[in-house]
Amino acid sequence: MIIIMTMNKTISSMRSKKGILVVVSGFSGAGKGTVMKRLLQKYDNYALSISMATRSPRPGEVDGRDYFFVSRDAFEEKIAEGGFVEYAQYCGNYYGTPKAYVEQQLEAGKDVILEIEIQGALKIKEKFETALLVFVMPPSVEELERRLIGRGTETPEVIRQRLSRADEEAEGIENYDYIVINNQLDACVEELNQLIITAHNAPIRNKEFIQSIKEDLKQLSKGE
Ligand code: 5GP
Repeated sequence: MIIIMTMNKTISSMRSKKGILVVVSGFSGAGKGTVMKRLLQKYDNYALSISMATRSPRPGEVDGRDYFFVSRDAFEEKIAEGGFVEYAQYCGNYYGTPKAYVEQQLEAGKDVILEIEIQGALKIKEKFETALLVFVMPPSVEELERRLIGRGTETPEVIRQRLSRADEEAEGIENYDYIVINNQLDACVEELNQLIITAHNAPIRNKEFIQSIKEDLKQLSKGE
């Protein structure tokens, strides 16, 4: 009898298959875009949220793939509609995470990656206690500068702005759950993948499951 009850209970105490929100930030030039691209190529359980942005596309960037590039008016309209999970201003432009896609993908069991800067990351942490926050670090500041210049898409003035922004962002790194160092691409991708897998097992991300096991145990131990 107890065995049958236990089996029934096992069915009712199944672990949630919902995905988790994974925030990935990093200084401009730290290579987080490349890390994300490789992570998504390698594993199909992730969905990358495509942000809306008011900056102009860089050469090679595609509307709807890299960002949804919109005017400030269109962006502000979407803010007014409550259409963002979070948004922030970065170096004079708006960037935001559209809500609908994130909600759909989490429901579908995908882990949703938000590649966003620190103000947005902190808003996510406030709103979703189960979000995992990861900061991608360059191996050194010299390497960061070298990568920013090597990208060849930004003017020296913009590079200076972004390094100064990195200096500000560095102050908030302690708010993240983990750092990963982007020294060697594949190793960094694997480390990130493992972190996310492990994060699924944290008690904070399994509250309902733990609660249902506790309730089942109480009933069983009373012989009900
Ligand atoms: P970039 O102009 O280099 O593409 O992006 C500038 C910064 O904005 C990067 O740190 C990037 O991660 C961040 N970013 C991109 N999309 C979003 C978003 O939807 N929300 C927030 N808060 N930051 C974003």
